[in-house]
Amino acid sequence: MMDCIFCKIIQRKLPAEILYENDKVISILDINPIHFGHALVIPKKHCLDFLSIPEDDLHDVLHATQIVTRAIVSGLNLEGFNIFSNNGKIAGQSVFHFHMHITPRYVDDNIRFVLQLKSYDDKMLAKYGATIRDHISIQ
Ligand code: 5GP
Ligand code: ZN
Repeated sequence: MMDCIFCKIIQRKLPAEILYENDKVISILDINPIHFGHALVIPKKHCLDFLSIPEDDLHDVLHATQIVTRAIVSGLNLEGFNIFSNNGKIAGQSVFHFHMHITPRYVDDNIRFVLQLKSYDDKMLAKYGATIRDHISIQ
């Protein structure tokens, strides 16, 4: 992909602080971290998001995410961390090359989603369950 920042980092056309790399995946420090040590894990083959990454590549990304997370937890002495992926502009995705985030967490670090949790009305739980089950397809 011509204009993809992560493809350019993978091709060494842009600099990055590389934490781990193998033939399928690269992991780098996020340039604007939530906390210092916030890392990204990126498949080397360009793909848009969680739904378009081939299953084998996703496996490689998740395995690398576990490897790098272990290093962050032990290197920074963490008691907790978040791993997450933003998918779609409305979900906060800003680089349209699939990646996982790993970010350290600390006591009272004041990071939280401000959420108003809902309750299901009568029969709604079953309705949502049925709708989603109807769309399960193993690809
Ligand atoms: P997204 O918003 O797509 O979930 O995550 C993209 C992440 O990439 C952001 O957290 C952003 O700080 C990071 N990022 C954007 N450009 C660069 C860059 O050139 N180098 C590095 N290391 N991180 C970047
Ligand atoms: Zn790319």
